[in-house]
Amino acid sequence: MCGIVGYIGKREAYPILIKGLERLEYRGYDSAGVALLNEGVFSVHKKKGKVVELKKLVAHKKLLGKVGIAHTRWATHGIPSDKNAHPQLSNSGDIIIVHNGIIENYLTIKKVLTKKGYKFYSDTDTEVLANLIEDIKKNTKVNLGEAVRLALLEIDGAYGILVLAKDEPDTIVVAKIGSPAVIGVGGSKTNPEFFIASDATPIIEYTDRVIYLEDREMGIIKNGELTIKTIQNKIVNPYVHKLEMKIEELEKGGFEHFMLKEIFEQPEALHSTIRGRLIESDGNIKFGGLEKFQKELKNLRSLTVVAMGTARFTGLIGEYALEELADIPTKVEYGSEFTYRKKAIAKNSGLLAISQSGETADTLNSIKEAKRKGMLTLGIVNVIGSSIAREVDAGIYNHVGPETAVASTKASTSQVLLQIMLAIYLGRMRGLTKKEGQTILKEIQKLPELAAKTLKNSDQIKNLAKKYKKIEHFFFLGRKYNAGTAMEGALKMKECSYIHAEGMNATELKHGPLSLIDENFPSLVIAPMDSMYEKSKSSIQEIKARGGLVIALTTEGNKELEKIANDVIYIPKTLEMLTPILAFIPMQLFAYYIAVERGNDVDKPRNLAKSVTVE
Ligand code: GLU
Repeated sequence: MCGIVGYIGKREAYPILIKGLERLEYRGYDSAGVALLNEGVFSVHKKKGKVVELKKLVAHKKLLGKVGIAHTRWATHGIPSDKNAHPQLSNSGDIIIVHNGIIENYLTIKKVLTKKGYKFYSDTDTEVLANLIEDIKKNTKVNLGEAVRLALLEIDGAYGILVLAKDEPDTIVVAKIGSPAVIGVGGSKTNPEFFIASDATPIIEYTDRVIYLEDREMGIIKNGELTIKTIQNKIVNPYVHKLEMKIEELEKGGFEHFMLKEIFEQPEALHSTIRGRLIESDGNIKFGGLEKFQKELKNLRSLTVVAMGTARFTGLIGEYALEELADIPTKVEYGSEFTYRKKAIAKNSGLLAISQSGETADTLNSIKEAKRKGMLTLGIVNVIGSSIAREVDAGIYNHVGPETAVASTKASTSQVLLQIMLAIYLGRMRGLTKKEGQTILKEIQKLPELAAKTLKNSDQIKNLAKKYKKIEHFFFLGRKYNAGTAMEGALKMKECSYIHAEGMNATELKHGPLSLIDENFPSLVIAPMDSMYEKSKSSIQEIKARGGLVIALTTEGNKELEKIANDVIYIPKTLEMLTPILAFIPMQLFAYYIAVERGNDVDKPRNLAKSVTVE
């Protein structure tokens, strides 16, 4: 889900394309590639690794062509490798494409094309689309723009694509759903040129006139003229924006920091997490990566979740769901401890490793240990082809795109959601009825929208941050599903704002920690209207009775806590097990805004690294 760049005009394309890729590097990627069209011939160069590797590869080559496309890949189908890098060519070499996103129904299309004699040389979903466009173009004799449009009508999923055809050197086609695409309109009437990219950073130095394509729209640039239409073939009158942002602002999508950008990306990230995976008719979940292990999963008698940091806290939430829905005894363990602890492993037990980067050394080691002990190993990982993704027997990807800020946000909400989805999947192999599954699926579907609604309260959280920024200690408290949420809330606060915070199950309070409470030691109590509400309310009262300050986080419509707590944050109503996903959001914002107030380096907090690759 990383970057695309395209150029068509009178200049040499290569310098523009390669610089464009460099501008998009901040988005994170694993491989890069470029293709130029010159005198009816494509020259294609691609390489696993950074853009600088690609530059080395072509250093002594003459790269000519006034039209070209380029790509940074964030692998979703097939490991990061030279052959899977983009651009991807069609079989005859007539069509070339770069693509960000996922084509969900690529296997079905691949089958049809294979029957027609097409061969596939990469593991990508993208190559299937290249061949589909070629097939349509050949059989219907339409031009490139129309062939792409007809192909897109057959595609489910998310994409930002750029396509060229060897026999139409005056044309470049761009289209999008989900992934972004911006067209920069440059040059003059007599000398038009167009720059296309995932965001405006590669474009801004050439022109400040840009068009943001909407979902299901495509741009066809032919003979120096741009036509925008929907993939249903309705012509669209584009709105040309005037860019006023600086490059650094553009990189962060207009947000001040990557962390804030990633917090705000959560509706889309949750959407990508569930995309193509909910089978409503059966109240079930589809996980491609688990299909081969149906028998082992049916026989699973217990599960150990291993993870570190934020991922471990999401595990403490998943634990409740796995027990409630799948009836599988589950425990959560530090990746590091699993390896060194002598523990009894029952027959048919499984290990579920959770890691955003897929490189967390402690977690990776525990997988190796589990395999030695004969356990089935599963993984929830964001980075495709990462060490953990390769090491586990069967894996589930988050598909939330690269996470740049050190403090995890969009990956964490996706981790919670995937564990609940896994619980449904395992539950449907056991006692969970279709009806029960359907009820949860219905609520899961609403999550992206509810997350967007939750984000609307960001100004309130910003004000709270101003109010509490000088505090030096904080408790984060919650019960049951939200005990893990409280721990994650405290971790976010520690990571970003350097405030001492402790997260715990609120039930602990009276067994000791309550002694710390005074007017300088506030608590954030997560108290949604669920099975634990009355208990959480009692905790709030206990703290208030000792002169402590309370920020209560509760469900919209519940006005009662306004009378007891000092401040109240609201999240929309959802199922009890899904509340952590929404409750994470205000806590991320709270930690973020306090960190900003205190002048901290939010995206790169002191002493911390994004992926912890040492034990
Ligand atoms: N699904 C494509 C692949 O795995 C595109 C990935 C991307 O967004 O870069 O090659």
